[in-house]
Amino acid sequence: MVINVQNLTKSYGKQQVLKGISTTVSKGEVVAIIGPSGSGKSTFLRCLNLLEVPTGGSIMINNEELTAPKADVARIRQHIGMVFQHFHLFPHMTVLENITFAPVNVKRVSLEQARQKAMELLAKVGLADKANVYPSKLSGGQKQRVAIARSLAMEPDIMLFDEPTSALDPEMVKEVLNVIKDLAESGMTMLIVTHEMKFAREAADTIYFLDQGQLIESAPPEQFFTKPGSERAARFLDQVL
Ligand code: ADP
Ligand code: MG
Repeated sequence: MVINVQNLTKSYGKQQVLKGISTTVSKGEVVAIIGPSGSGKSTFLRCLNLLEVPTGGSIMINNEELTAPKADVARIRQHIGMVFQHFHLFPHMTVLENITFAPVNVKRVSLEQARQKAMELLAKVGLADKANVYPSKLSGGQKQRVAIARSLAMEPDIMLFDEPTSALDPEMVKEVLNVIKDLAESGMTMLIVTHEMKFAREAADTIYFLDQGQLIESAPPEQFFTKPGSERAARFLDQVL
């Protein structure tokens, strides 16, 4: 088990946003997280790398308790990459510098080695020719692919994606989803919040359906999309399919 979440709760003031989520994710498993806006999808994902501090419950990553009082959060977090809806590239750095920055400054990899790895990753996401340009010269889809390469440069065991294609023009969605699909097929453990139902159905091993802070369903895509196990999921699918 790469991830083991038990009774995870999160409140903002009096509002309980996550109401006791328990689940496990295996090595290489690809999870697509779907559900209505405001159901707690982002909060759940952000708790997994402590961008949000849980109110209660526990999170184990690679058998280390992230939520333990003495946990080495910075080190555990290095195993987890995250890609957001908005790409958050460093605007004053070239594509190559964006990708080599963390390996060199956080992991203390040599610049030469970091560059070599960055070029491999850029080739993988189809952007080898963009190494020396600045982010402002890239399309949204290209920026997001750089953001993915930058995250992979830290060699994470787990990748978290929060609506990675929601800010993109329609014609750029596919190039990003294809990169994520390749990554899924390469055996990366991933959790992806997405509204792309076709992608979720094709690429995920497991669908999580969240509603009002609860994990209502966790099921293989075929099962979830053909016979959802709850009225709420059925209603949601009616609205989005
Ligand atoms: P989703 O990603 O499914 O749309 P979120 O996890 O972003 O849902 O939000 C779940 C709920 O928590 C929403 O009601 C949202 O308004 C609230 N929320 C999220 N982040 C914060 C925050 N930093 N402070 C207060 N409330 C928040
Ligand atoms: Mg969200």
